[in-house]
Amino acid sequence: MGSGCGGVGSGTAPTVAARAMDALLDAGYECYVVGGAARAILLGTRADDWDVATSAPPSEVRRVIEWMGMKPIDKGEAHGTVGASDGGVTVEFTTFRAEGEYSDARHPDSVTFIGDIEGDLSRRDFTVNAIAMKWPGLEVTDPFRGVEDLRRGIIRAVGDAASRFAEDALRMIRAVRFESEHGWRIEPRTRSAISRNAQRVRGISAERVRDEVSRVLVGPHAGRALADMVRLGLMDAVVPELSESGGVGAGRLSGRTLMEHAIMTADAVAPSLVLRLAALLHDVAKPRCLGVDDRGRVHFHGHDALGAEMVGEILERLRYPKVVRDRVRVLVKEHMFFYSPEATDAALRRLVGRVGEEGVFDLLELRRADVVASGGDAAPFLRQVEHRVRDILDRGQAVRGSGLAVNGEDVMEVLDIGPGPRVGQVLQRLLDMVLDDPGLNQRDKLRSIIAGMKPGGGDSRPGSS
Ligand code: ATP
Ligand code: MG
Repeated sequence: MGSGCGGVGSGTAPTVAARAMDALLDAGYECYVVGGAARAILLGTRADDWDVATSAPPSEVRRVIEWMGMKPIDKGEAHGTVGASDGGVTVEFTTFRAEGEYSDARHPDSVTFIGDIEGDLSRRDFTVNAIAMKWPGLEVTDPFRGVEDLRRGIIRAVGDAASRFAEDALRMIRAVRFESEHGWRIEPRTRSAISRNAQRVRGISAERVRDEVSRVLVGPHAGRALADMVRLGLMDAVVPELSESGGVGAGRLSGRTLMEHAIMTADAVAPSLVLRLAALLHDVAKPRCLGVDDRGRVHFHGHDALGAEMVGEILERLRYPKVVRDRVRVLVKEHMFFYSPEATDAALRRLVGRVGEEGVFDLLELRRADVVASGGDAAPFLRQVEHRVRDILDRGQAVRGSGLAVNGEDVMEVLDIGPGPRVGQVLQRLLDMVLDDPGLNQRDKLRSIIAGMKPGGGDSRPGSS
């Protein structure tokens, strides 16, 4: 292991990074490849995003990027970070951070930045992230023996773990994020500092937590990392609602808790953010819905509906965008969908209508993982549902109002009425009819059905079902 490892050299740098670093060098500044890119060079893998530490102040970095004909991206210039993006590659330049940041924080551009690479590295989170490679020769600076930890896959705080986490609690979630993405292990002292400080995570901004937690969820080692989040107390700080699942048995799933079941399900679904969130949270309401029937059997009636509500709140608190919240919520709401081979096409069309054409395949994937995590094998029935749903979609059958051959304009024109709730009621009634009989979904047929809904017409009970 070393800068020559795997034959990689400065030639592996994306053009935008290499050109900017060369230009800064010409102007008399130093540049070091750090972060994920330095790790990738050492491991002989690829990094799409590059982090560079430089002695150049942000104003100089901005000037160089503009000179290259590109638009600098403000990544928090007040903190010394300026970025550039080209062809899917992002490079972030951060001016050496010295103790106390700038000598004059109000005029970050006008000061001469003090500090050097060693000082900069000592402010970074983990030893594997505190390795620098000097541009262009890629000589390694490694004051905290990060290369050795990288080789062994060990996540170790730089300096005193507890005080580093007190400075910035997000680092604790970053530790599990690296565990999830790379399969590394957190060493014992760092672990115990996390255990003692986990609740500090509640104090940091939801957006920062969300971004790191999302990466934990979609990582290839998510199952192990999520279990670690629970053990270290981080899960309780981020999603306290899930903690209730730690003490409740998952019913017939011998000896497993609901929490263990949730994590196994998340680990078993495909690594998309929406699916992983839905899988982790699908049974979140079970502890609150726990009941016992007259024969002494445990049940969780209504946990899907309540779960969907809770998930909406949890994801809103974590500032996930509305599209993500809506998709996860509907998956949780519908995760108990019932299917038997006798189910009609109309029932399947209604299911697709509720979860959406994209959502229905996520729903099948979620159910597959849910059953697998319960020790079962759901494949045969799910394959059948998938086959039938694809068939329905291939035939272009309407599953939602937007697929109707008529719209509100038709309704208003035929019934000679203005806009109002009645228009929506009529459309809903038409959709119900079309879901039962897709052959009705033709403009002239639907318009004559609408005509029959006029007062005194053949059907005057729109929305009466
Ligand atoms: P990836 O390749 O996945 O982006 P990364 O290590 O580059 O991993 P970034 O979030 O891009 O992670 O951060 C770049 C570098 O900045 C890190 O390697 C680390 O040295 C430093 N860093 C980032 N966030 C923190 C933090 N909260 N505290 C201390 N250092 C940090
Ligand atoms: Mg990075």
